[in-house]
Amino acid sequence: MTPVILLISGLDPTGGAGIGADMRACSALKAYSMPVVSALTVQNQHGVSRVEPVATDIIIAQLDAVYEAVRPDAVKIGLVPEATLLGAITDFLGNKKQDNIVVDPVLSATRGGKLANTSHRPELYRRLSRIARLFTPNSAEADLIGFSPEFIKESGCSLLITGGDKNGNYSTDILYEQGSAPLLISSFRIQGHNMHGTGCILSSAIAVFLARRYPLPEACMAAKEFVSDSLKKANAFQTDIMPDYGPSLIS
Ligand code: PLP
Repeated sequence: MTPVILLISGLDPTGGAGIGADMRACSALKAYSMPVVSALTVQNQHGVSRVEPVATDIIIAQLDAVYEAVRPDAVKIGLVPEATLLGAITDFLGNKKQDNIVVDPVLSATRGGKLANTSHRPELYRRLSRIARLFTPNSAEADLIGFSPEFIKESGCSLLITGGDKNGNYSTDILYEQGSAPLLISSFRIQGHNMHGTGCILSSAIAVFLARRYPLPEACMAAKEFVSDSLKKANAFQTDIMPDYGPSLIS
């Protein structure tokens, strides 16, 4: 059966990151995706210059429409620029008893520019962690928000701290799950400039594999392999799309 994935994230007009990248990841993995846009952004390979949040009541009305149509098998939450919106989405998904929620707690863009307002984030993420399956911060986001082993103990939610933004020959993500030793998921670092949206496609791919009933460690490993393959293909095929910071997934 084709898994149905609800995506809640921002729109990048170049398609490199955000909900455009999420949708391409779902399509490449043969899942059906439903895009609820949380914000319009002005950005390209040089960075983000503006973020315009979509009104909370429109997002909630869209979520109502989606759930009236079909119940998603998994949800990926990416950029949510405002605290009130994040609180409303958490309440909505909690009331629906939605499972397989993957959260990429994106706050700023790799090439510069703030994407989200950070006020109340630790409390809001703690609330969201009670219904989410996994958060996927990079190490900077994890430090800023204060994600820690205590966070996992308190909430039961798992944490994948991604290492793609670091240096070295390997890119290593660390999965922290309650009751298990930390799991290191490593791959050869793919060199190249086509890195835009890597975090988006990783978290979307995990949502697809969870919807396919993979256990969490296998879902994270399969998603990392998908990202590595995408980066290799982007390097092989793409020579002149945004040459200094191109999209990590092109088909
Ligand atoms: N723009 C949007 C809408 C995003 O959701 C994200 C990441 O999740 C980014 C930009 C940042 O992507 P990157 O760090 O790859 O530039």
